[in-house]
Amino acid sequence: MKDTISVTGIEAHGYIGVYAKEKKVGQKFIVDFTLHFGSIGATDRLDDTVDYSKAAQRVKSYIESAECDLIETAAADIARMLIRENGVTGVSVTVHKPEAPIGFKFSDVSVTCNLLWQDVCLGLGSNIGDKRAHLDYAVAKLKECEHCKDLTVSDYYVTSPYGVVDQDDFVNACVRLHTYLTPLELLDMCLAIEKERGRERTLRWGPRTLDIDILLYGREVISSPSLTVPHPDMDRRRFVLEPLSDIAGDFIHPLIGKSIRRMSEELKD
Ligand code: ATP
Ligand code: CA
Ligand code: CA
Repeated sequence: MKDTISVTGIEAHGYIGVYAKEKKVGQKFIVDFTLHFGSIGATDRLDDTVDYSKAAQRVKSYIESAECDLIETAAADIARMLIRENGVTGVSVTVHKPEAPIGFKFSDVSVTCNLLWQDVCLGLGSNIGDKRAHLDYAVAKLKECEHCKDLTVSDYYVTSPYGVVDQDDFVNACVRLHTYLTPLELLDMCLAIEKERGRERTLRWGPRTLDIDILLYGREVISSPSLTVPHPDMDRRRFVLEPLSDIAGDFIHPLIGKSIRRMSEELKD
């Protein structure tokens, strides 16, 4: 069980709604939030925790000035704001709209947004054009992404091609970061960054300006038509395990049950 700080029943007058009257006259909204922490209470200093009165004030100000149509948007916006507070590992935000125009008597309508910082590893590769510049670009884009934090990058490794060997050498690297994006949101972002560097898919394992693979997403195991995590081939790829060892040697592969450092050492043998 994680430690939490909660504030409930934050009341504010806001203008969130689809109808003109809601935008003009406004109505009452009530917000509850819970912040999750690894642990609380190690010190008695306000600087070491989250000032919940300031956080609640930010929530109230958000509701008073929000111009969106949906309380779904409001809950997600507030969750994305609060998850960046000091030491927070996850948040749950509920926005209530008890006077919503439903047309008959009801007691409440609410939506809840839950976010969690996930420990994620990505593999980067390039073997066309200015390979290092393509990797630098990916790192810069991930670093400036508002949904990510704590990015670390491995060294860049020059490696021989894998699968289709009749092509130029690769430069490979790995990145580790925290994000609250879902796996599919993260995949979409990675594919979009690849596209910005002119990535084209012709031959499988063929030459590419930029490739970004999701290697690990916390301890999650995902098997969907567009996404397999952990990356299915990573345990056989030296060009993945070597750079990954630099930044995530202690990370346990959720299916193999070994650390990345150990997997890398065993592959060398
Ligand atoms: P490999 O995945 O064996 O390294 P590749 O990177 O060359 O090969 P791509 O052409 O870049 O393969 O990817 C094809 C599709 O693979 C992507 O559009 C994506 O939907 C899917 N995919 C499945 N699992 C993953 C993952 N873990 N990371 C990135 N893409 C994935
Ligand atoms: Ca790949
Ligand atoms: Ca890929």
